[in-house]
Amino acid sequence: MIIDGKKVAFSILEELKEKVKKLDKKPGLAVILANDDPSSKVYVSSKEKYSLDLGYKSCVYRFDKTITQGKLIQLIHELNENPDINGILVQLPLFSHLNEDEILELIHPKKDVDGFHPVNIGKLYAGLEPYAVCCTPKGIIKLLKAYNIKIEGKKALVIGRSNIVGKPVASLLLNENATVTIAHSKTKNLKEYTKKADIIVSATGHPKLITADMVKKGAVVIDVGIVRQDNGRLVGDIDFEKVKDIASYITPVPGGVGPMTIACLMENTYELFLLQNKR
Ligand code: NAD
Repeated sequence: MIIDGKKVAFSILEELKEKVKKLDKKPGLAVILANDDPSSKVYVSSKEKYSLDLGYKSCVYRFDKTITQGKLIQLIHELNENPDINGILVQLPLFSHLNEDEILELIHPKKDVDGFHPVNIGKLYAGLEPYAVCCTPKGIIKLLKAYNIKIEGKKALVIGRSNIVGKPVASLLLNENATVTIAHSKTKNLKEYTKKADIIVSATGHPKLITADMVKKGAVVIDVGIVRQDNGRLVGDIDFEKVKDIASYITPVPGGVGPMTIACLMENTYELFLLQNKR
């Protein structure tokens, strides 16, 4: 079965829209763009559009190369203090002269809508409830649950160990009582691991890394990878056309994990609004 991320994301957004209509004050999301990567520009515009569609207050700060670390630090402090802003998102990567780690740590953990602050990451690893859970990993768990896919007791393989996808999704799967293995670029004989997995979450950005012969019959396959090919088409890590005949559930690219990331970002903004307004 093909997992329809667009459909699940749409229902999350529709539900949110109804909840937001009932609020007397609107949630506010600030997005900072300080790089000139074309994909980042597209992602930021999309975040702005979704925020406005939901009736959120949306503030986008776009900077060119002249932005300094000091100015960015000052902006984060101002946004931390601004009661109209409930979520602060720094689009990564930043220009190379800026220190990302320092900027991310300055965001107040209760406004850290991306869930990247060490406090939120620490809470996630400790099995405590973070103020916000990283959007893509959260979206993956929601997709599995939307399709009633059992996680507890399953062998889950996460391919990729980045701080934004691989590590947090592995923690979430562990918190859901899966037996989790993490593979990465130095893993030898990846097939040995993929063949045993009941659930595969692949987040590498290598097209067709996972081929049909690597997947156990009936496995659940979640493709996080997004790569734009020369012909403009988006592809993931999985050889979708062949693996779909072996997997019990599989996410397409596009239309799988991607839409869930933005829906979870919007949900996190709403949840942080409630937290800050003690509702
Ligand atoms: P990253 O480059 O930070 O990490 C990639 C990871 O893949 C690394 O940990 C590396 O060890 C591992 N890896 C690389 N080659 C490998 C191989 N041959 N075998 C096993 N592991 C290998 O990337 P990221 O930020 O985690 O993103 C990964 C992919 O997911 C990218 O394509 C990105 O565009 C996509 N992504 C999608 C969404 C979404 O919403 N769908 C969100 C975030 C990232």
